[in-house]
Amino acid sequence: MEISIYFHIPFCNRRCDYCDFNTYAGLERQIPEYVKALNRELEMVLNNAPTDFKVTTIYFGGGTPSLLNSADYATLFTTIGNSAVVSPDAEISLEANPDSLSDEKITAYRQVGFNRISIGMQSASRFDLKALGRAHTNPSLLASVDGCRRAGFQHINLDLIFGIPGQTLESWQRTLRLALELSADHLSLYSLVIEEGTRLRRLYDKGLLVEVNDDLAADMYETAMEELAQAGYSQYEISNWAKNSDARCRHNLQYWRYAPYLGFGAGAHGFWGSTRTENLHTIQEYMQAVNLKSPAAFPAGCACQSTITMNRWEMMQENLMVSLRLTEEGVSLSRFAERYGVELMEVFPHQLEKNLREGLIEYDEEKDRLRLTYRGRLFGNRVFSQFVSNKVPKGYEHLLAQ
Ligand code: SF4
Repeated sequence: MEISIYFHIPFCNRRCDYCDFNTYAGLERQIPEYVKALNRELEMVLNNAPTDFKVTTIYFGGGTPSLLNSADYATLFTTIGNSAVVSPDAEISLEANPDSLSDEKITAYRQVGFNRISIGMQSASRFDLKALGRAHTNPSLLASVDGCRRAGFQHINLDLIFGIPGQTLESWQRTLRLALELSADHLSLYSLVIEEGTRLRRLYDKGLLVEVNDDLAADMYETAMEELAQAGYSQYEISNWAKNSDARCRHNLQYWRYAPYLGFGAGAHGFWGSTRTENLHTIQEYMQAVNLKSPAAFPAGCACQSTITMNRWEMMQENLMVSLRLTEEGVSLSRFAERYGVELMEVFPHQLEKNLREGLIEYDEEKDRLRLTYRGRLFGNRVFSQFVSNKVPKGYEHLLAQ
């Protein structure tokens, strides 16, 4: 069995104005202690694990993982290597902010084993960057991408955001153009959501900023679909584009294929068999639990605050919701039936019929794939939401058993 490992690094130099992630500014002095806690959690969980798996992807997300140095990562890689089989061609990714990278750091990350880097570009416009409260500038972005290329990173992703207050279609096109000029082999595009608890939300509530309207945001997304296709990128997931199949993010594919992964660190989530795990959120709570508590039953670690065991019906719905995001691969009907013991058409007849009729999904019989159409990509959330929180159909109550 192939599995993935996710590490959460919840440190940032400062909080961006749109960010509601589990991250903390000004606590960087705790990084050494946090890395020790990660090593301890990793050791305890992996030592409790069944032995028949191979780690094929490792991903450090945040927060700002580029605040840690390469020696911190070297200790974690050693711990993993001591307790698990890691595939020789494993994808090992690091999320990074341009302002926390230097040539020396990039080279050291590459030398310690990272082969993929995901850089938070967000926008080419300094007005957008200011509106988002981002600390970096374009020169630091260009220097980071150049440094990664010189250091021999095989795969570089750029994260971009559209729908930023004040952003126009023209400025979004300039952002896309710069991203294409930088020639990263992977692009992730996210539509800005003004989340509760953020500085942007406070400004919005006071009437000090205007949200981009839905039509303009949809135009921006469609423009990206067209321009990136023309530039030779394929949209393999609703928010992700890759230059070729090797450039696809194997770690995220694991999530979208509804396959197992372990999560380490504050607030990290895991998924194994039918169990979801979620760790304690704050750095303090997390480190205390790791240092004081004894190991829990696999796949939970000592910092796990909740485990949920799902029944087959819940898993089927969740599986559809995540896998339909894969715009080319979609969902294989035969694999679905094999995994859950029932045909998709039997249990979701109305949802499938409605979305097929409205031209939002299509079934490719030859490839045995159910997937979104071009139009469906524009209304993805509408499609996904129909496959969750459904009552189990009459006659299929056995799917509720765990
Ligand atoms: S760098 Fe990323 S994680 Fe950190 S505050 Fe900004 S958006 Fe949030």
